[in-house]
Amino acid sequence: MVKETGFYDTLGVKPNATPDELKRAYRKLALKYHPDKNPTEGEKFKQISQAYEVLSDANKREVYDRGGEKAIKEGGTGGGGGGGGGGFASPMDIFDLFFGGGSRMHRERKGKNIVHQISVTLEDLHNGATRKLNLQKNTICERCEGRGSRKGAAQMCMTCHGTGMQVRMHQLIPGMVQQVSTVCHSCQGQGQRISHKDRCKTCAGRKIMRQKKILELHIDKGMRDGQKIVFHGEGDQEPGLEPGDIVIVLDQREHPRFTRKGEDLTMSMELQLVEALCGFQTPVQTLDNRTLLITSHPGELIKPGDTKCVPNEGMPTYRRPFEKGRLIIHFSVVFPKANFLPENKLKELEGYLPEKVDAEQLDRMDDDLYIYADLEDCDLENRKRQHHQYYYTDEDEYTNTNSDLLSGVSKF
Ligand SMILES: [Zn+2]
Ligand SMILES: [Zn+2]
Repeated sequence: MVKETGFYDTLGVKPNATPDELKRAYRKLALKYHPDKNPTEGEKFKQISQAYEVLSDANKREVYDRGGEKAIKEGGTGGGGGGGGGGFASPMDIFDLFFGGGSRMHRERKGKNIVHQISVTLEDLHNGATRKLNLQKNTICERCEGRGSRKGAAQMCMTCHGTGMQVRMHQLIPGMVQQVSTVCHSCQGQGQRISHKDRCKTCAGRKIMRQKKILELHIDKGMRDGQKIVFHGEGDQEPGLEPGDIVIVLDQREHPRFTRKGEDLTMSMELQLVEALCGFQTPVQTLDNRTLLITSHPGELIKPGDTKCVPNEGMPTYRRPFEKGRLIIHFSVVFPKANFLPENKLKELEGYLPEKVDAEQLDRMDDDLYIYADLEDCDLENRKRQHHQYYYTDEDEYTNTNSDLLSGVSKF
């Protein structure tokens, strides 16, 4: 038992969630509440990040399960993460780490990655698909090539001598001076100045333009839920920066019939008792629209809870699409309704079925040696009712439940 479930609740998972389920939950929520998409949900984004940071680390998760959030904050894991308060890493770092964004070292020279999630069907992942994505992105102005002005019109900022920074001396105490660097206020750190009349008319001196862009997304056979497709260098452009990437994350919608487990597909199938005993043929539509005739020959027998499989009818393997997983079928058996046969026919049916186990022993028993126990539907939620039934003894009931019940009781 876990002490508290707050972090699990934040991610919307159960306390016994697997690492994969945690990843999936974090991915969905982090993309939904990322400040780029939801600027007012910063607090929520932070909570998701902290919950994931703790639960994705086996040691921290154990500490949390035993001692709750308090134990985490008291540093039961040793070594604080720095950054955000309470020993947590910054939500952005967690996000970048998860989605493979530029590491801290590169962040200065590379623009940020843009992450989108797109919804795909299991059919898309099975058959492969192509999607056109309409995006808006910043591009460097072509007319001025990102200078913001006519060529040669920019003049070096005299305040900072083109460095974009100003260094000032600040005297702390007599004899001790501190150097303080600040962004140059004359040129806002650009290192140059452009007079109004020389500004590029196309971008109005902003150097960048907002442009529409269509990207073609190829979903290959066998790709998985959560898989990332990266368009390198397709992120926003900015002068002096290497553009970041556009990262597309696949989000598979649930399929009404099949569930994917690795390369296998699983489904459940309900059989009538007669089908389970005497064989059946049931058509199943595949993800690429073929019809499989699932066949059990007479004499084969399917028991409730049996699992069978059809080889090579699962998902294709990513990059080796001709290698396919299995189609795994979990069977359940629907029994006929009570009194589906008149009593004399039941006797007849009994003749075809394997013999009852305790029939002989019962015949030899003296009437005085047993008490008839009638079977009733029981409500497991409500124990009181059961107790009541247990103590309920009535002479009339006793004599009413006579020999015709014997056939229904096989064990004492
Ligand atoms: Zn321009
Ligand atoms: Zn300057």
